[in-house]
Amino acid sequence: KDSHSQNIQSTSHSIKFNSRSPAYHNWCHGFTVAHFAYLVLKNSRLLEAGVLSSLEAFALLIAAMCHDLDHRGTNNSYQISSNSVLACLYSSEGSVMERHHFAQSMCILNTEGCNILENLGKTDYTRCLDLIRDNILATDLAHHLRIIPEMEAMVKEGLSPSNLEHHRLISCLLMTSADLGDQTKDWVNAKQCAKLVYTEFFTQGDLEKAMGNKPVESMDREKAFVPSLQIQFTDHIVLPVYKILKVCDSS
Ligand code: ZN
Repeated sequence: KDSHSQNIQSTSHSIKFNSRSPAYHNWCHGFTVAHFAYLVLKNSRLLEAGVLSSLEAFALLIAAMCHDLDHRGTNNSYQISSNSVLACLYSSEGSVMERHHFAQSMCILNTEGCNILENLGKTDYTRCLDLIRDNILATDLAHHLRIIPEMEAMVKEGLSPSNLEHHRLISCLLMTSADLGDQTKDWVNAKQCAKLVYTEFFTQGDLEKAMGNKPVESMDREKAFVPSLQIQFTDHIVLPVYKILKVCDSS
């Protein structure tokens, strides 16, 4: 084995080891998201069309694998309301958890034997880290909702490989598509994933009640009506993502 493939192996062990085990946001989710991102890259032919460079595609796959590293099974608003250490570190910049997931990714990439980027030249190295950061921050759904108008404008004017802004928007779109990929799977898998999501949501809801706070409906095991919550999620968040993705498919 050459040292590069050894590096890749120790990096993936390290990512697995650094994933805690909440019901849903664990190693299995990270791996599944990276797998989905790989399939979209391969099938959409965005690289062949020049919409993404190979460096951008590489950064996308690393970000997908790492995007939820050290997730604690609680969301950004919980970090803030519970005054967590992560909120103290990052709340002024927003996307508290995503900033932590990126910081954890950097720790792994800076570990001896895990720096799979070490063969890149200085410019590509810096660019790759910037891309990984932007891609991980794009998995905050609040970020996704903010850039929807930009993505719609891109679709309207037509994808242009020479427009660097389009490269950025496509990367964000691919990250969100991959992150929500469970919703595109068959009934048995989609249902099992939803079950794990609600297990995690209700655990957060219980913690919030214990703090004397009122959880949102989807996290309150006494109030949540899962079928209707899932339909709302599909209609308002999931379907619009894949509608845009379909238009961007270059295959
Ligand atoms: Zn995720």
